[in-house]
Amino acid sequence: MKKLLNIGLMFMLVVSLTTVVFAEDNEFLTTIDWNNRHHVEFYGELTGALAREYPDIAKTYSIGRSWRERDLWVVELSSRVKSEEEKAPIAIIGNIHGGEHESAETTAYTAWWLATNYGKDSTATEILDNYIIYVLPVMNPDGYEQSFVYPCRQNLRPTDHNGDGVPFGDPYKDVNGDGIIAEVYTGARDSDPKDRKFIGMESPDFDKNGIPGDDWIGSDIDLNRTFNYMWNRYDGITEIGAKYATRSGPSPASEPEVKVVQNFLIKHPVYALATLHTGIQCVLFPWCYSPEPTADHDFMETVSRDMAKAITKGTGRPFYFKQSYHDYPTTAELIDWAYGRLSIHSYTIEVYSGGPHGTGNIENYCTWGNELPPEDWIYMGRWQGLDDVWFLNTSRAKMTGQAPPDQAIMCEGVKDGLLVMIKSEPHGDGPIVPDYLEYY
Ligand SMILES: [Zn+2]
Repeated sequence: MKKLLNIGLMFMLVVSLTTVVFAEDNEFLTTIDWNNRHHVEFYGELTGALAREYPDIAKTYSIGRSWRERDLWVVELSSRVKSEEEKAPIAIIGNIHGGEHESAETTAYTAWWLATNYGKDSTATEILDNYIIYVLPVMNPDGYEQSFVYPCRQNLRPTDHNGDGVPFGDPYKDVNGDGIIAEVYTGARDSDPKDRKFIGMESPDFDKNGIPGDDWIGSDIDLNRTFNYMWNRYDGITEIGAKYATRSGPSPASEPEVKVVQNFLIKHPVYALATLHTGIQCVLFPWCYSPEPTADHDFMETVSRDMAKAITKGTGRPFYFKQSYHDYPTTAELIDWAYGRLSIHSYTIEVYSGGPHGTGNIENYCTWGNELPPEDWIYMGRWQGLDDVWFLNTSRAKMTGQAPPDQAIMCEGVKDGLLVMIKSEPHGDGPIVPDYLEYY
């Protein structure tokens, strides 16, 4: 009897604890402010909460870790109405470039929207009944979080930028306490800004070599030049190679974040994939490395056009589309690897270009339309042993850690574009995993 009572009490305890946890998840999921800028922990919390709150349609797991041992959290969304074999898998990957925070917010929003609208919205329901959607909001969690100090495109492979034997030995630091990392210049008090000389970045000059901030936290590696396809194709002999070779890492897929994503896609080949970025407002498709059309050129061009149209409609901001090479040529990008190695229809969605609409060409016109804060020159006089020092607070530095206006509208509109991509599949023969492909 006593035993039974204990079991009964334990049962009640478990039930009430579960209710508390679920109530917290529910509150978390229903009060997210998508106009906010979230720290990297948010994405683990969000994907975890989705899996607990919607166990029938959401699974969450880490697919591997970054240089700094941060998890790459994936949420897998799919209902149980059909078997896995009857469904088309799709992947959505945010934030390869750490500073491009909006790419993570929009990716995470799409997962959140699909899960919270299943059974309520006919499109969300239809999608989870017919597709498996893998969502990785942040592929570069180290660069993402570092970008709360200063925009960091790269990952955090330990790097010794100034060659003194100590990696990251002179990082940026807000010395004057205004919350902004300034560019440091010298020039007379009455000098013209264009005549001032760039010295370094705001930092106490930790390594005391006279150059502030010359060993910042960030590698020289661009994860989106490091995939194992056409790696370093521009080999340093051509002009283009000279520009891009240093960014591609020591060997193909050298970086843990890239290995993890390649392995995941080899094990979970998808019909289509989107990778989200910022910098322009555009949908791009392969190739990046060549102006030649792919075998699926017409199909991917049409889907890109329809995605750009949907995002334009959803955000009220202009978006365009083009083959990635014609944006600018690059090699070893995720979309070239996914299409070139696995025949996955692949798209880069550039979700945000800050600033008012310009004129002259489509890139200048296709912007978010917001006013960015003006840059400020601050005369510092004598500073850390240097005379006539100026701080330049750039608008980019001032925007660090801040979301642009209407980010929630950006999330909603980009989600509409992603729905267009999902619904364009299955198309063609689907992904093919050649047996030569290696795991790392
Ligand atoms: Zn990018």
